Amino acid sequence: MTAKVEEAIGALGALLGDRLATSDSVRDLHGRDESTFPAAPPDAVAFPRSTEEVAAIVRTCAGLGVPVVAFGTGSSVEGQILAVEGGVALDTSLMDAILRVSIEDLDATVQPGVTRTALEKRVGGDGAFFSVDPGADASLGGMAATGASGTNTVRYGSMRENVLALEVVLADGRVIRTGTRARKSSAGYDLTHLFIGSEGTLGIITELTLRLRPIPEAISAAVCSFPTTQDAVGTAIAIVQSGVPIARCELLDATMMRAVNAHDGLGHAESPTLFLEFHGSTAGVEEDARYVEELAREHGGADFAWAVRTEDRSRLWRARHNAYFAGIGLRPGCRALTTDVCVPVSELAAAIDATVADVAGLPFPAPLLGHVADGNFHVMLLIDPGDAEDRRLAEGVYDRIVDRAIAAGGTCTGEHGVGLGKRRALGAQSGEAVQVMRALKHALDPTDCLNPGKVLPQPHSNT
Ligand SMILES: Cc1cc2nc3c(=O)[nH]c(=O)nc-3n(C[C@H](O)[C@H](O)[C@H](O)COP(=O)(O)OP(=O)(O)OC[C@H]3O[C@@H](n4cnc5c(N)ncnc54)[C@H](O)[C@@H]3O)c2cc1C
Repeated sequence: MTAKVEEAIGALGALLGDRLATSDSVRDLHGRDESTFPAAPPDAVAFPRSTEEVAAIVRTCAGLGVPVVAFGTGSSVEGQILAVEGGVALDTSLMDAILRVSIEDLDATVQPGVTRTALEKRVGGDGAFFSVDPGADASLGGMAATGASGTNTVRYGSMRENVLALEVVLADGRVIRTGTRARKSSAGYDLTHLFIGSEGTLGIITELTLRLRPIPEAISAAVCSFPTTQDAVGTAIAIVQSGVPIARCELLDATMMRAVNAHDGLGHAESPTLFLEFHGSTAGVEEDARYVEELAREHGGADFAWAVRTEDRSRLWRARHNAYFAGIGLRPGCRALTTDVCVPVSELAAAIDATVADVAGLPFPAPLLGHVADGNFHVMLLIDPGDAEDRRLAEGVYDRIVDRAIAAGGTCTGEHGVGLGKRRALGAQSGEAVQVMRALKHALDPTDCLNPGKVLPQPHSNT
């Protein structure tokens, strides 16, 4: 530990008392994630309760050149929270107040440590919901910082469409508001969207004003299996191109269905499957569902199984949300190198075909799943982290999937963000725009104390 870090810990201890932790167990919990990168614990973990405390922590650390890594629930999958240069993890879990809910305006203001399910519980009884639902029970601050999305994105958008305004602590301790509660604004540069997806590298989000949605009058969900992955993907593309306002359209391939059945004790067909959901009026939902059932049949879809009762739908979507851990269960002791490309929907069939061919000969399982109506899919490359050959093969597949997506006009990451894992890919995708990103980073964080080493490609390096 350097003298500067010791000085920062002394100052933060005086500010926070026992809300500054330096024990190995707390540091370890804040230095590992679901990625395949080695653990990198911070030197200390701070648990602020207010914006003022966040500002004081950041000011102290930046003044001493000590890194600050914001930490929500640590569910990110690209090495985002790893303290690769040491420093202080700033854990927002005690900033968990829902500050204001307006059902009239369908918006809410929350502190960053509020999790998506905590907000759902609070507003559900009032007939509203927050639509962004990543598989993990992530914090809303972390979700904004990674530009997260989920199963409802095809209908309601990602965090980018559902954050109205942010309060942010900058690297020099200033506190700014990036927007208002108005539904639209032409007032100046769009700072809200600058911070969404910035992964803690430009500022610390201390408050979020979010859009809520009314719970629809009718909801119905269905599961439909297909002879091949191509048939399922063809159906998803036809649904999007037909303009049916589908609320959820998720693909799980045969390997993933086997995993989900085993993990959740279900008995679905172990073939490529679409999980679908329709929202609207009773008549509208029936009409949309009938139309989609017809499209599915044209692509060989069978066993269209409906779940109308709330408990049946919950079981279905719980299984989908558990898919990551179900996948991990296919190979005990493995780690998942997870891809996250997103392509224009017209390019989806080719992207998935090439991926299926690429993973066919691998000596380890590689289940595929995706928010296919968005053009976004994941392959979980289930490697033994200690096996160099597994890693070499997986990284080759991973890079080819990313390069094909970029060549097809898509992105290396639809929702997981860049972290450590996609810095090379961001460079390949963004070209000269990376220099603009560097200039923004330098303007807002000149001493590089906010989550250093993340997002921006390392100059003259292949990562
Ligand atoms: C089982 C599983 C399923 C998942 N499914 C999805 C999915 O469907 N869709 C999806 O998008 N993601 C998914 N993820 C990834 C993950 O849940 C998201 O990236 C999520 O948004 C991370 O939130 P978090 O609170 O855990 O953030 P963390 O992991 O704690 O942090 C993520 C990044 O945000 C920064 N950060 C955190 N809080 C703040 C703050 N207040 N201010 C500034 N920066 C901050 C951190 O420094 C870090 O760079 C999944 C992960 C798992 C394990």
